[in-house]
Formats: sequence, C-alpha cells, structure tokens
Amino acid sequence: MTEARRPVAIVTGGRRGIGLGIARALAVSGFDIAITGIGDAEGVARVIADLGALGARAVFLRADLADLGSHQASVDAVAAEFGRIDCLVNNAGIAPVVRGDFLDLKPENFDAIVGINLRGTVFFTQAVLKAMLATPAAAPRSIVNITSVSAAMTSPERLDYCMSKAGLAAFSQGLALRLAETGISVFEVRPGIIRSDMTAAVSGKYDALIEAGLVPMRRWGDPEDIGNIVAGLASGKFGFATGSVIQADGGLSI
Ligand code: NAD
Repeated sequence: MTEARRPVAIVTGGRRGIGLGIARALAVSGFDIAITGIGDAEGVARVIADLGALGARAVFLRADLADLGSHQASVDAVAAEFGRIDCLVNNAGIAPVVRGDFLDLKPENFDAIVGINLRGTVFFTQAVLKAMLATPAAAPRSIVNITSVSAAMTSPERLDYCMSKAGLAAFSQGLALRLAETGISVFEVRPGIIRSDMTAAVSGKYDALIEAGLVPMRRWGDPEDIGNIVAGLASGKFGFATGSVIQADGGLSI
C-alpha cells in the first residue's frame, strides 16, 4: 500500500459527463482520483491521461453500482492503490430511456433505476464509509451526492427517476446527521439541465425550453459547472456546513 500525499476522491460514473467534469475539477484542486463505472475500456485511457495532465494520479475501476457484491472489492482496490479515501462523490446514475405514464410503470424499470441511483449508491457509500472511518482523517473529508432538481420538482412522466433522487436527498440529510460528529461533511448537489450523454437524446427539446426562458440564465449547464461546485464543497472550506443542498440549475427551480 502506498501512502498518497494528495487527498483522494472516488467519483462514481466519472468517465464521462458530469462525473468527468467533477473528476477534472477535483484533479485541478489537488485530488488524486479513482473513477468507477461500467462499460468497456474504450475512452478510459484518454480520461486517465487527461486527469494525469491535470496533475492527478488517476485510476479507473470497472464496477457496477447495482452489483452490491462488488462494492467491497472496489473499496479495497482504492485503498490498495492510494492508502486513503477523503472524498466520495456519488455521481453515477441512470434516467429512464422512455418517459411514460405512471399506469405503465413497470417494476423491472423501477428496480433498475432505484437499484443504481438509490440502493446501489446507498450501499456503496456504506462500504466506502467503513474504510474512511477506519483511518484517521489526513485532510478535510466529505461525501457529495449528485441528485437532481427532480428530487424536489417531480414529474409524473418519470416518477421512478424522481423518487430515486428524492430518496437520495433524504439519504443525504440522514447521513449528514449520522456523520456530524465525525467531521465528514455531507452535501447534496442538485443539477438542472446539463449537457451530457444523458440529455443528448432530448437536447432539441431542451434547447427550445431554454430559449423560451425555462432556465432564467438561458443556457445549458456544463459538467464543469457542477465540477467546480463539488471541488469547492470537497475543499474543506465549508467545514461547518453539512446536510447542505446546492441547486445548480441557472435559476430553474427558483
Ligand atoms: P451520463 O449518462 O453521461 O453519465 C452517467 C455515468 O454513470 C456514466 O459514467 C455511467 O457509466 C455511470 N453509470 C451508469 N450506470 C452505472 C452503474 N450501474 N454502475 C456504475 N456506474 C454507472 O449522465 P450525466 O448527465 O453525466 O449524469 C450524472 C449524474 O447527474 C446522474 O446521477 C444524473 O442523474 C445526474 N443529473 C444529470 C442531469 C443532466 O441534465 N445531465 C441533471 C440532473 C442530475
């Protein structure tokens, strides 16, 4: 086991989209990074090189959040590589491919979304926390949960997604209280409409809505917008804050 001098962050789903924006911002602010995710290795080497160019030692761990049995191996791999974990960013998530009426909601689709966005995230956090709590703090420590404006602004056409994010918001609050005495701050970041693979299929619709003023700032958010917020929260400069919710949505939910 090698002892890293830089603080270490795990970013779930960090190989693309918002997660990559977060990993890049954390790298710039001095973190070494373990990104976790699914899929083939294509593009991963480029991401690791990109984070390396920003000064970070970075690794990719292939790990399916829905597979609870794989979580401990992922945590062990990070501990073996870096010797410490200072920050966990629960970013990975999926949204329904097709929106639909509640009367057509299928248990298997509900289970798939909740199984990753909520159940998988909750138990991955549990595994990471056990490792964090087993070692003394060497830097400010934090957990940042990426939910969505959908945690509060529900939509009947994608109740499964909204419920998963509302559940994650409740988890953030409870975890903040559970960890208050440990000095580990817990934050929730609620992105609005952000450019990524998740929104690519509906970008035309969002272009029109943004143009029409749905987003008061009249622009898309970028992964960097979320990354910069997370890097700030993970910096320790907000050490007396915990359970805090940051909406990053250009004014959408005001
Ligand atoms: P994305 O689809 O581009 O990226 C999602 C990431 O999660 C990918 O890296 C993917 O590999 C990973 N992932 C998916 N299933 C996984 C699994 N089973 N195990 C491990 N990793 C898995 O989406 P994004 O837009 O970058 O979204 C990132 C987060 O932000 C999600 O939680 C999403 O719900 C949330 N969010 C996105 C928007 C938006 O407008 N894009 C808005 C609000 C919230």
